[in-house]
Amino acid sequence: TAKKQRNTCRLYTPSMNELPQKEVMLESGLYPALESNQFMLYYQPKVDLESGRIYAAEALLRWKHPEFGMVPPMEFIPIAEKTGFIIPLGEWVLREACRQVKRWEKQGLPQLSVSVNMSMIQFQQKNIVHTIQSIISEEGVRPQQIELELTESIFMDNPDHTLRILHELKRLGLALSLDDFGTGYSSLSYLQSVPIHYLKLDKSFIHDIVSDYRKQMIFKSLVVIAHNLDLKVVTEGVETAEELDIIKGHQCDSVQGYLYSPPLPPDRFAELYRKHSA
Ligand code: C2E
Ligand code: CA
Ligand code: CA
Ligand code: CA
Repeated sequence: TAKKQRNTCRLYTPSMNELPQKEVMLESGLYPALESNQFMLYYQPKVDLESGRIYAAEALLRWKHPEFGMVPPMEFIPIAEKTGFIIPLGEWVLREACRQVKRWEKQGLPQLSVSVNMSMIQFQQKNIVHTIQSIISEEGVRPQQIELELTESIFMDNPDHTLRILHELKRLGLALSLDDFGTGYSSLSYLQSVPIHYLKLDKSFIHDIVSDYRKQMIFKSLVVIAHNLDLKVVTEGVETAEELDIIKGHQCDSVQGYLYSPPLPPDRFAELYRKHSA
């Protein structure tokens, strides 16, 4: 019905033409974009709150489109998921992140781990563990240098299958994060059974936290629960010093956000990391 509505809009309001048009162009542009190197990864630092140092980076996908300029992932990932293109694209992301780890190593940068985001569509692939393992070993990276960020959506389809895969990935030595915790229908029940290392609290938690006492209490309680389950807590979307103060006060382990740095191209990330690592 979404499609029908869109077509209706097109007939009656010419000003709405642009949106479906762009979507069609993005969809048909995905494959050529991969072939002609229009995708790139930016890196956002994760900062350890105790030491104040950068200890890891999240790889975030960017599309430098010849016509639209930088297209944010929220605009093209859903299309890539719908069409299945997320499979080759996701493999490219993992491979490119591994290659960047090696490049930084060659440049003498202190070691750090890089996380990549995984779509639930990738998790539905039967051979996902083998694919991940192959890419990492082909690129000569140790599994300890790579972290996977997953959202609860991977449990929607076949929770038992997902759990088995997570255990296998953990056994390989990869670090696992549960991303966007606290959005949608997040539930504490996952935390009982999921073999993860990090819980990433979504930026919606931070929004308004300075003035919202109840939010602070939920935040505080979640950190306690996570710590009791031996999970480290990463808070996303930290933008102000006031937010940071509250987060620090409640013993969160690390943060990611514009307060420290937006996602950066590899060279600029390396520059920042040199100044703020060991
Ligand atoms: P995410 O995994 O939750 O990534 C964090 C998003 O928050 C990033 O947006 C980042 O730029 C943004 N962000 C970081 N700090 C702040 C802050 O202080 N304030 C605010 N307002 N935002 C902040 P980005 O790069 O646009 O990515 C959006 C989403 O697209 C990601 O959310 C992730 O779900 C998806 N994504 C990005 N790269 C990939 C990828 O390689 N594969 C897959 N499957 N999904 C990806
Ligand atoms: Ca993420
Ligand atoms: Ca997130
Ligand atoms: Ca997200």
